[in-house]
Amino acid sequence: MKVLQVLPALHSGGVERGTLEFAAELVKRGHQSLVISSGGPKVAQLLDQGSTHIELPVHRKALSSFAQILPMRRLLTELQPDIVHVRSRMPAWITWLAWKGMPAARRPALVSTFHGMYSVNPYSAVMARASRIIAVSECVKQYVLDNYKVADERVTVIQRGVDINAFCPRPPETQWLARFHEEHPRLAGKRLIMMPGRISRWKGQTLFVNAMAQILRQMPDAHGIIVGGAEPGKEHFLEELEQQCRDLGLSNDITFLGQRNDINELYLVASVVCHMSTKPEPFGRTITEALASGTPVAAFDRGGAAETLRACFPQGLVTPDDTSAFAERVMALLVTEPPPVELPWRFQLQAQTEATLAVYDQALSER
Ligand code: UDP
Repeated sequence: MKVLQVLPALHSGGVERGTLEFAAELVKRGHQSLVISSGGPKVAQLLDQGSTHIELPVHRKALSSFAQILPMRRLLTELQPDIVHVRSRMPAWITWLAWKGMPAARRPALVSTFHGMYSVNPYSAVMARASRIIAVSECVKQYVLDNYKVADERVTVIQRGVDINAFCPRPPETQWLARFHEEHPRLAGKRLIMMPGRISRWKGQTLFVNAMAQILRQMPDAHGIIVGGAEPGKEHFLEELEQQCRDLGLSNDITFLGQRNDINELYLVASVVCHMSTKPEPFGRTITEALASGTPVAAFDRGGAAETLRACFPQGLVTPDDTSAFAERVMALLVTEPPPVELPWRFQLQAQTEATLAVYDQALSER
C-alpha cells in the first residue's frame, strides 16, 4: 500500500510524533510511506526511517495557502498514493480541494484523523469530509458525532499507540544519566516531579507551579521539572512562569528543561508525571508514555487523559482544577509503591498501526 500522510510541519508535538512513528511502522511492514509537510527538524529522522518527504507549504492558516491546491493535485496525480491521510485542518483543505478536482477513478481514498476537538465552524468541517474518520479517543469521537453530520460507523476510535520499545521500564542509560547529573547538579538526590508538554497556557504549567509550592512545603526533597518548549509566539508565557516561580520563591525548586529529544529517559528518572491541562485533552500522549515507562501519573479527571487513566491507572485521577487535591495525590503516589502497569494493547503502537491499516482497507474497499 502507498500511504501519504499530510500535516502542517515536522516540529515537536503529539501529531508529529504520531506521524513519524506510524510512518516507520508502515515501512517495517513493507508499505510505501510518504509525508507532505512544510518541513522541520524531524524530517531527517523520517528519511532515516525509510519514508519519503515532500516539502510543500501546507501549514499557513491564510488564503494564500490555497495556491497550494494545484501543486498538491499534481503531486497526487504523480505519486498515485492509495491512501491520503490528513491530520490537520489547513492541509486537509488543500488536499480535499486538490482531490475533488481529480477524475473520480484516479482519486486516492481519503482518511482524516481528528487529533483535537476543533472549534465547530466550516473551517474545521473539512476534517469530516474524508470517507473514513479516525478519532484519537472516545471523547473526540463523541465530539465529532455531536457537532458534524457524520454517521457513527464512519468514525473509528484509535488511541495513540506508544512505541513500547522506546518507552519501557528500565534503568536510564548510564552515559545519559552521568551527563544529566553533570548538567543539572541541583537535581541530584531529589524526587523529580515531571510536567511534560508544550509550554502553552492550557497545558496547565501555572497550576503545576502552584501544586509544587504545596508539595515542597511537606516534601523539601521534591523538585519540579518542566519539560517542553515554548511554541513560537508563546515565549511570553514561559517568562510568566519563570516570574511565577520567582514570586513563590521556587526558582531553586523547579527547573525548566526546554524541548527535549530524550523524554523517554526523563520519564525513567521522574518519580511522578503530572498532567494538568485546563481543558479536555483530546488524548495526551505523555500519560501513556509515562505509564509505559513504569512511572505513575496524576491527571485531572476529564477528556482523553481521564479515559486513559481510567483504563490504565485509575489511582492517578484527580478532581478537575483542584490543585490542592492534585498536590495531595502526587504526594500519596510518592510514598506508595505503584502497582506495575500493563499498558492495554489498544494503547500500543502495534495496535494503532493494525487498526489504522484496517481503516485504510475499509476506505479502499469503498472507493
Ligand atoms: N515531547 C517531547 N519532548 C518534549 C516535550 C514533549 O518529545 O520536550 C513529546 C511527548 O513525548 C509527546 C508529545 O511531545 O509524545 C506531546 O504529545 P501530547 O499528546 O501530550 O500533546 P500535544 O503536543 O499533542 O498537545
